[in-house]
Amino acid sequence: MRSHRLFWKLFLISVGLHLTLAIGFLWIVVSSQRREINRQVEQRLETTAVMLRSQVRGPLARLLDDDADASSRQRAQERLQSMIDELAGEIGLRLTLVDADGLVLADSDRDFESMLNHANRPELIAASEFGRGVAMRPSPTLQTDMLYLAIPINTSVAPPAFVRVAVELETIQARIAVVSRSLWLLALVFAALATALTYAIVARVIRPLAELTQRAQAIAGGGDQSPVPIRSRDEVGLLAEAFNRMQAHLAARFRELRDNNEQMATVLASMDEGIIAVDADQKIVLANDASKIFFTFAGTDEVGRPLLESVRNRTLHDVVQQCLERGKAVQTELESTAKTRRTLSVRATCLPGKPAHGVVLVLHDITELRRLENLRRDFVANVSHELKTPLSSIKAYAETLRLGAIDDPEHSSLFVARIEEQAERLHQLILDMLQIARVEAGDEVFDITRVAIERVVRAGVRQHAKTAQRKEIEVIVARPEMATFALADEDGLNTILDNLLGNAIKYTPEGGRVTLRWWNEGDSVCLEVEDSGVGIAPAHHSRVFERFYRADKARSRELGGTGLGLSIVKHLCQAFGGSVSLRSRLGKGSCFRVRVPRA
Ligand code: ADP
Repeated sequence: MRSHRLFWKLFLISVGLHLTLAIGFLWIVVSSQRREINRQVEQRLETTAVMLRSQVRGPLARLLDDDADASSRQRAQERLQSMIDELAGEIGLRLTLVDADGLVLADSDRDFESMLNHANRPELIAASEFGRGVAMRPSPTLQTDMLYLAIPINTSVAPPAFVRVAVELETIQARIAVVSRSLWLLALVFAALATALTYAIVARVIRPLAELTQRAQAIAGGGDQSPVPIRSRDEVGLLAEAFNRMQAHLAARFRELRDNNEQMATVLASMDEGIIAVDADQKIVLANDASKIFFTFAGTDEVGRPLLESVRNRTLHDVVQQCLERGKAVQTELESTAKTRRTLSVRATCLPGKPAHGVVLVLHDITELRRLENLRRDFVANVSHELKTPLSSIKAYAETLRLGAIDDPEHSSLFVARIEEQAERLHQLILDMLQIARVEAGDEVFDITRVAIERVVRAGVRQHAKTAQRKEIEVIVARPEMATFALADEDGLNTILDNLLGNAIKYTPEGGRVTLRWWNEGDSVCLEVEDSGVGIAPAHHSRVFERFYRADKARSRELGGTGLGLSIVKHLCQAFGGSVSLRSRLGKGSCFRVRVPRA
């Protein structure tokens, strides 16, 4: 509580007000008390003076009577002096009798004969003028501050003399001081009580407010969210109640917003499209995970950094600029700067507001789309090209026959054989294309069974025996000791080996050697076809499995290749859950290894 500034403010203001009021009140009371004491003292002096006047009138008349003898005047004076002394002794005041000329006739405190003339004393002047004179002044006789009161006294024998009664101011001031001290003491006690009471009241008023403040600070700081206790039904209680309602409402809104944000974050994170939002100054407000795959963001926290500085892509920056300038969506394509180059389609849309508060960029990866488009274009070009060559040959031979060669039995049979050859090539090409299309599309129905590799090898060797014999190529079959079984489609495996063995014989010069070997390796079966043929340069290794790709175009065409064999092998292997790889050195020979699941 003591640490609350409001508490101290209120407490000090209240105490200050109390003190000001108390001091003001005290000042008024003390002043009125002083006036009252002065009045009472004056009253007393006057009463005494009046009383003295009536008592001293007789002896005074005798003293002032010029006709009286000296001894009677002497006695009268003595009588007056003794009366004055007696009375002064009883009432504790200074009493003086002064004649009309200012001559002191008797005095209770001093020897009257030694006293100066009093004609100029203000109280006596006032008394002669107004019948009563009061003065507060130092006494030249007693050397002390006195309050004097003088009244005239008529004796009928002489001009009026004066009775003067005086009291030492110190006496009055002592009385006033006593009263003031009591009042101050009382005031001090009351001030202490009032301060204690103020402390308690202010503390009581402030406590719920302080609690409210603490709770508000805790809530603002994200700490304890429990409601404020309501201790009263007054305004502070109502405020606490309103605060609790407001806090509950805010908490609900906050939860709602957080849920929405989480949903939004999940949606954004799971999107394949990259999303980047920037403000009107092109500073990044948001970037989802996909956008970080497309672009390498500089630094760890991209939010709040300029787009160009963070993404370093001028085209993206320009797209945002255009969008902000035109105030409408802009669409374009760009190359991403991430590790792998990607073609991205970018759509920039303005955020609401005039001018727009920012731009949302939606990035779509169209690399695969473009690749497929290119593949399709290449495929169409390749197919047309592959078909054109044999068709042109057929057309040329047929034309030659029509123009007369048909009557030349020697040449005509050669030309017809060529036409047959080209037609067979076309036929093979179409068969290969159909097969590859079926395998690629997944239309081919495979009968996956336990296949003995040896049987497949025997069939393959048998199929190519004549060609090998013709080229005097030695086909070596390195049979493993253990019987080896693959889990695959037998026809498919036959096609794989047919292609690989066919190629090996095709690309191996006469007198060469082709070796077939197979073995179990973990969960797989490996089948290798190695030749001592022309080999393949390393630059072509990764591409020989593509459709229509030929490492040595002239040789392949001459030998009747379609450029589809290895592509069929690759797709079949993949369809069986296996793979195919190549080791080869130009001029030294090639070795293709097929790996399929083991039965
Ligand atoms: P092709 O019908 O032209 O033989 P493939 O798809 O079977 O088509 O082979 C692709 C290319 O790989 C061939 O054109 C050839 O240049 C090369 N090739 C395939 N097998 C061998 C091999 N055993 N030795 C050398 N080159 C080969």
